[in-house]
Amino acid sequence: MLYFADVILPLPLKRLFTYTLDEEQANELHKGFRVAVPFGKSKLYTGIVFKIHGKSPTAYEAKPIYSILDDGPVVYDSQLRLWQWISDYYMCSLGEVMRAAIPGGLLLSSETVLIKSESPSADTDHLSDNEYLIYEALGYQSQLSIEEVADILNKKQVLPLISKLVDKGLVNVQEQLREKYKPKLVRYVQLHHSYRSEHQLKELLELLSQAPKQREAVLTLFQLQGDRRPVKVKTLIETSGSSSAVIKALIDKVVIEELFLEHSRIVHGEKDESVEVNLNPNQTAALTSVKSGMEEGKINLLHGVTSSGKTEIYIRLIEESLENSKQVLYLVPEIALTTQLVKRLEKRFGKQVLVFHSKYSLNERVEVWQNLLENREEGTVVIGARSAIFLPWAHLDLIIVDEEHEVSYKQFDPAPRYHARDTAIVLGKMFGAKILLGSATPSLESYYNAQNNKYHYTALKERFNNVLMPEMELVDLSDKYKRKRMTGHFSDRLIQEIQEALDQRFQVILFQNRRGFSPIIECHTCGHSPQCPNCDVSLTYHQYKNQLRCHYCGFNRPVMSNCEACGNTSLDTKGFGTEQVEEEAKTLFPNHRIARMDLDTTRGKYSFDRIIEQFEDKDIDILVGTQMVTKGLDFRDVKLVGVLNADGLLNFPDFRSHERCFQLLSQVAGRSGRTDVRGKVIIQTFNPYHSILQQVSSNDYDTMYKQQLEDRYQFHYPPIYRIVKISLRHRQIERVNKASDWFARALKNALRTGVLGPEFPPIARIRNQYHKNILIKIAPAQSLTKTKEAIQKIENSFLGIKDFRAVRIVINVDSY
Ligand code: ADP
Ligand code: ZN
Repeated sequence: MLYFADVILPLPLKRLFTYTLDEEQANELHKGFRVAVPFGKSKLYTGIVFKIHGKSPTAYEAKPIYSILDDGPVVYDSQLRLWQWISDYYMCSLGEVMRAAIPGGLLLSSETVLIKSESPSADTDHLSDNEYLIYEALGYQSQLSIEEVADILNKKQVLPLISKLVDKGLVNVQEQLREKYKPKLVRYVQLHHSYRSEHQLKELLELLSQAPKQREAVLTLFQLQGDRRPVKVKTLIETSGSSSAVIKALIDKVVIEELFLEHSRIVHGEKDESVEVNLNPNQTAALTSVKSGMEEGKINLLHGVTSSGKTEIYIRLIEESLENSKQVLYLVPEIALTTQLVKRLEKRFGKQVLVFHSKYSLNERVEVWQNLLENREEGTVVIGARSAIFLPWAHLDLIIVDEEHEVSYKQFDPAPRYHARDTAIVLGKMFGAKILLGSATPSLESYYNAQNNKYHYTALKERFNNVLMPEMELVDLSDKYKRKRMTGHFSDRLIQEIQEALDQRFQVILFQNRRGFSPIIECHTCGHSPQCPNCDVSLTYHQYKNQLRCHYCGFNRPVMSNCEACGNTSLDTKGFGTEQVEEEAKTLFPNHRIARMDLDTTRGKYSFDRIIEQFEDKDIDILVGTQMVTKGLDFRDVKLVGVLNADGLLNFPDFRSHERCFQLLSQVAGRSGRTDVRGKVIIQTFNPYHSILQQVSSNDYDTMYKQQLEDRYQFHYPPIYRIVKISLRHRQIERVNKASDWFARALKNALRTGVLGPEFPPIARIRNQYHKNILIKIAPAQSLTKTKEAIQKIENSFLGIKDFRAVRIVINVDSY
């Protein structure tokens, strides 16, 4: 009997690869185990076993696996089913899903090493100096990595030399696996076992009478050690007032011994038993409604205005699941992953809370993953960004998708281009879990489903504590400019309201949806503005670093003083970003503390938290920020929110831009007046009569919904139609043109209707690649599966055309 395993590799391969197993391996190995396998030119990869069977592949001769890495599955059957669903639905390979799903730390990396060949076939007299050096080093060390070879020779290019040594039969190269995950080791000490009795200790102290510091350290250690547990070196040094030199001397004398113990990187917050929250009648009614929806087995949509107390309702539901030792997934958009929410949940659920997001290191992510694997029977709530759906769930009971309308739930690049909310629903169905989507401004998709009775709908229309919704004021910028009522980008109304709020010791949030100082530098004389060499966009000016940067590819260069086109020194800035708002605010309110929160100021792991904490502690009076400041933050003393310019949000070339503008502005507005005083929102715009802005300022979701849905019907967009976007990319514009024409024609032949394009997107070139898009609109009556099959077929023939082979195809199902 022959045994084979189909293995998922973390590579964009269309098919799984098959390897042979011997009988022992076949008995040991199961679905979901990690294996190391060779692939391509002698590289080793970590793969996940998908299937074990007895059928040999026909197209190639299967190789044996290299080794089995675990004695239990790392990925469970339910996870693999989810992977399969994602792969089918979002038209990508299982390998691509695997790469998104498994923390990098669980993938071993292979490293090439040199070893001495067993029977050297050449004599060593004819070696060059460098060759000899390496050969000799292998006499002392059993193996050398490429890096070590480079170190020894003090040069970078070592591969030619290595291949010469291989040719001469003196060394062999081998692939070796290295575990990427490293447990955190902490240094401990304990008294050597020959000094454990009081009598022995006494003798020892006498012996050390000439070394008072060492004596003191030993005494302290004896006290700290209590029931003979090792003591952290750090603690010992701190308590005894000694130094690492003293500790080292004692270790050298074998008076104490050192040992390294594994420590978890997961930091738990303390539970606060004193917190007691009673739901108000509105919340109680909402909770009852949500529960009845859950009992009917329906997906629930909780539509609660900002600060209505949705989170408290989530907490009640979580409590019930944890009491039954079940698991809860609490999804939040990446950006909103704030300490605030985590702290709030930790106060209630202590160690049962785990956090999982992309700012975590590779090692931390592995530990969260392992924690779930090890504590499968315990109640746990994981707060996580979208990739938390991939964790090894065992008995998922409840999924909460907070801010379900957030666009960032959809992964844009690379594949899998999945929507975390939609995938979470599929995941929930697999476990029979209860599902709750929550938002102050639901996505049209979810609201549409609620209207059509597919989802159970619950509304919370009042803010907690009966705080009024903030008062909104639209400020007409063209009028203010005409009448010279502007100071920089601040209207007199905005300045007045800021001053008033600050005088009353309240805080202010200023929102501008662009980072940097001003988006564009332009020459007065010739109109030229510096462009990114790799992308079709103008570079953005960042004053702080005095740089021009591309926000698409990261290209940057120092600012020049002369126009690169005409040579004149007439460069000027156009438009403005958060940096400039911060600058102007500092000039306008010199006696107040002003800080900025955007991508540029929050790169470090804790920098985001730090700004939030400073704002909470009222060390900051005015917080300037991009949409980062809009998301789910709960500050007590913000009275005023100012939107510097709403027009940029309206003029986005995208069918969702109006919906998004409504959501974004409602969210920003929701940051104000969250406790007892009514908040105020000033929105500056050149289009004060724009319907979306009118709807925002009257908090009229229903009218916004009706109007947008009308448009979506008319122009065939979601939630009525489904869309699939196909993007073709290549360095040469002619090739992109030809390839996309071919693809679109084939699609039009196959599908007849609903194929649009090919068309260049607004930014046609990114990172030196030209993009061209084809949009497919799929009518409600049309089969999505059949459409995808047709696309797949066309893609396969496309890949068979030699001219097109180098053209990259990116398929985005339910594209945003
Ligand atoms: P949302 O999630 O809808 O924005 P939150 O749950 O954050 O609203 O509630 C808004 C504010 O009201 C928070 O500061 C929260 O602590 C407080 N709050 C909500 N419900 C209660 C309650 N039942 N008792 C006391 N405070 C509450
Ligand atoms: Zn660029």
